[in-house]
Amino acid sequence: MLNSLCPCGSKKDKNNCCVAILEGKLEAETAEALMRSRYTAFTLAHAEYLMKSHHSKTRNIKDKKDIKQWAKSVKWMGLTIINTEKGQLGDDTGTVEFKALFIENGQLNHIHEKSFFCLENKKWVYKSGKQLP
Ligand SMILES: [Zn+2]
Repeated sequence: MLNSLCPCGSKKDKNNCCVAILEGKLEAETAEALMRSRYTAFTLAHAEYLMKSHHSKTRNIKDKKDIKQWAKSVKWMGLTIINTEKGQLGDDTGTVEFKALFIENGQLNHIHEKSFFCLENKKWVYKSGKQLP
């Protein structure tokens, strides 16, 4: 059972959590859910979903191959949601501050980011992020 837990740390079965969102069976109803699904997409090197869940104005299609290669080259160790603002049902913008741990070239490293999300075509998408120390 343990290996069916979602990589995002929700303690839910991945098929009722991010994997279902990646496969289009569930919608990310909040900015946090979208953030979690994007983390899980990184752990699976699912570049197509990372593109799809990125706002069309800030998405860079040229990065797709690089994202896939990089996501595959690191070992993802976990996601911690530190803070969320708005991004709930009924909102049209939201922010999520998170830390994602990964091992790259044998070194433990992390991304600490405040991410900005908004609705595009009534779906949550990643707009931009601010790197934090
Ligand atoms: Zn999940």
